[in-house]
Formats: sequence, structure tokens, C-alpha cells
Amino acid sequence: MLVRLIYASRVERNTSQSDVREILEKSVVNNGRAGVTGALCFTGGIFLQCLEGDRREVSKVYHRILNDPRHADAELLMFEEVASRNFTDWNMGYLGYTQENRSLFLKYSSKAEFDPYSMNAMSLRAFFDEVVGSAKWLGSQK
Ligand code: FAD
Repeated sequence: MLVRLIYASRVERNTSQSDVREILEKSVVNNGRAGVTGALCFTGGIFLQCLEGDRREVSKVYHRILNDPRHADAELLMFEEVASRNFTDWNMGYLGYTQENRSLFLKYSSKAEFDPYSMNAMSLRAFFDEVVGSAKWLGSQK
């Protein structure tokens, strides 16, 4: 059964850009093996990640992620069965906080800063739809 899971978490203080790079490299390999696709956004000390794939595989990845000391306060924002994937080409796409995509982050946020914790399912869906439609914002993590 195909599912989509979206969660947000807060970056731990000691987590660096090289940690994020390492997480992405690991994700591309592990997710590719598990048939999990998705995108990881990293901005303003917050991670927002979308995982999609087989329900069991997505659950396994999510549980592994929850135990990772490089972030905290993980909150499940959305979990749903889906008919198809959004991120067919991305084992783990990456969207960083650049000037170019700042407006995209703010477009779906009710606050001045990007705050996925306060986003509803409709905004989350629309946000990731727009992310996937703008592949230039995604890092080369196929
Ligand atoms: P190894 O890389 O061998 O790691 C073994 C253990 O050490 C794991 O428990 C790991 O959490 C821990 N560890 C590894 N490096 C560090 C470090 N630098 N500091 C502290 N602990 C460390 N993994 C995926 O497979 N797919 C994803 O989509 C994914 N998304 C992530 C998103 C976020 C926001 C974060 C923080 C992590 C994510 N990870 C993801 C990484 C995940 O949490 C595990 O670290 C990784 O899956 C473990 O890979 P592995 O089983 O090959 O073990």
C-alpha cells in the first residue's frame, strides 16, 4: 500500500551543514534500496520531510529517523494513503533555504518565518506539489 508521511522536527544545536549532507547521502542510498522517495527541506533550524512509498518501508525509515540525535521535537504532520507518488525521480530531494526559494517557504506559512508545525494538510500538500514542480530547487539527490 502506497502512503505519504510528512513530519517536522527541530535541528539540534550541534548539527552542521556537513551533517545534513551526510544525512542526504545516506538517505539516497537507504531510500533507494527501500523504494522510498521524497524530499527534505531544511530552513531556519527546522527540518520538514516528505516520505512516500510502501507503508512498511516508510514506517521503518521514519522510526529510524526518530531515533536520530541530530534533531528533536519530531511531529507527525500528515500520514495518508495515496494513489501515486509525487517524487518519482527523487530518493531524497533537498530544498535548502536560499534567497531563491524563500518566497516558496513563506507562501505556505501563516507566520513571517517558515513554520511547518502550524501548516494544515492542505498547505502541506500544496507546498510539496509546488516543490516537485520546481525541480531546480531540489539538490542532485537522485
Ligand atoms: P549508520 O549510518 O551506520 O548509523 C548507525 C547509527 O548511528 C544510527 O542510529 C544513526 O542515527 C547514528 N548516526 C549516524 N551518524 C551520526 C551522526 N553524525 N551523529 C549522530 N548519530 C549518528 N535516513 C534514511 O535512510 N532515509 C531518510 O530519508 C532519512 N532522513 C533523515 C532526515 C533527518 C531530518 C534526519 C536527522 C535523519 C535522516 N536520516 C534518514 C538518517 C537516519 O536518521 C539514520 O541516521 C540513517 O537512516 C541510518 O543509516 P544506517 O542504518 O545505514 O546506519
